[in-house]
Amino acid sequence: MRPRAYLDWNASAPLRPEARAAMLAAMDEVGNPSSVHAEGRAARAIVERAREAVAALAGCAPDQVVFTSGATEANAAAISGAGAVIAAEVEHESVLEPARAAARHIAPPVDRDGRVARDTAAPEGALIAIAAANGETGVIEDEATLRALFSRPGLRGHCDATQAVGRTGFDFARSDAATAAISAHKIGGPKGVGAFIHRAGAAPAPLIRGGGQESGWRSGTENLIGIAGFGAAAKMAKREFDAGAWDGARAIRDLLEDALASGAPEVEIAGRDAPRLPNTSCFITPGWAGETQVMAMDLAGFAVSAGSACSSGKVRRASRALLAMGHDETTASSAIRVSFGPTTTEAEVMAFAEAWLAAHGRRRAKAA
Ligand code: PMP
Repeated sequence: MRPRAYLDWNASAPLRPEARAAMLAAMDEVGNPSSVHAEGRAARAIVERAREAVAALAGCAPDQVVFTSGATEANAAAISGAGAVIAAEVEHESVLEPARAAARHIAPPVDRDGRVARDTAAPEGALIAIAAANGETGVIEDEATLRALFSRPGLRGHCDATQAVGRTGFDFARSDAATAAISAHKIGGPKGVGAFIHRAGAAPAPLIRGGGQESGWRSGTENLIGIAGFGAAAKMAKREFDAGAWDGARAIRDLLEDALASGAPEVEIAGRDAPRLPNTSCFITPGWAGETQVMAMDLAGFAVSAGSACSSGKVRRASRALLAMGHDETTASSAIRVSFGPTTTEAEVMAFAEAWLAAHGRRRAKAA
């Protein structure tokens, strides 16, 4: 039997062997990174090495990196407590929920590709949160738009770079964002660790207070094992990106989309004409529920998802992001996302295309 193919990297990428090795080594460190003795200093060295690797990947200085429990916490750290927050409905829930809880939430319109306009209206003093790349569709926000909005006087920019870092040339310094969020498990690190990145003077009050770790930005004894894995993953992700390792994913993605278009011409690829992550294909088959497709593909041995992983387990059919992009309820609930990475083979993705087209054909035959 063919082994299962894991094509849900945007939900969580496979753990890199280097991250696993770094975590195993960190498990044997007895010291608390805040302790001054040799054991403590050894643990501290692991944290600081990881910070350097994460900073190098994200395009910032090490002292701008604050380790958190993931991108959800990093988004909350940036947004919680803000007065007016501008965040479009295509953003991740971990951005939208704190935005909705703010004194004022403004959801600006997005175009058919899910991108905000460069001249988006914004009240003075507002925080504007924009993802560098959308997890559901893979659409990359225009860099000039990001910079124009993030550097507009009187605005504070927050960039959710969770899906972009390591897969695009995302660079915190160049983005002009005041703050950013990234996550280890999207780049081959462990789940449950991430980073909040901030420019000097730009960060709001800390979300978690106490012992003053992370220079007071995030109290609590550091997740040494997770941070060790995050650092190792960041180092490898940068090396891989710089070596062009994602070009192969792009080529495979294009083959997949060509196969779908020729076998099922009614399929629409969300954001097809916009710049997209090399690894993501979100495609809509009007009238065929995304969740049904995911289940059929799961039985056939393929892990893919409908909408963002964070909405799974909740009954929500239509993708909020696709609705915001102008799709109606039917099309917005008929999408699935295939996402993969440099270690995915063409054979795996084309086997998926074949299985999906077969299921599509059976469904059509039944309906006829
Ligand atoms: N933002 C985006 C764009 C994401 O895709 C995710 C993960 N699905 C998050 C934030 C949350 O990241 P974490 O799982 O590290 O909390």
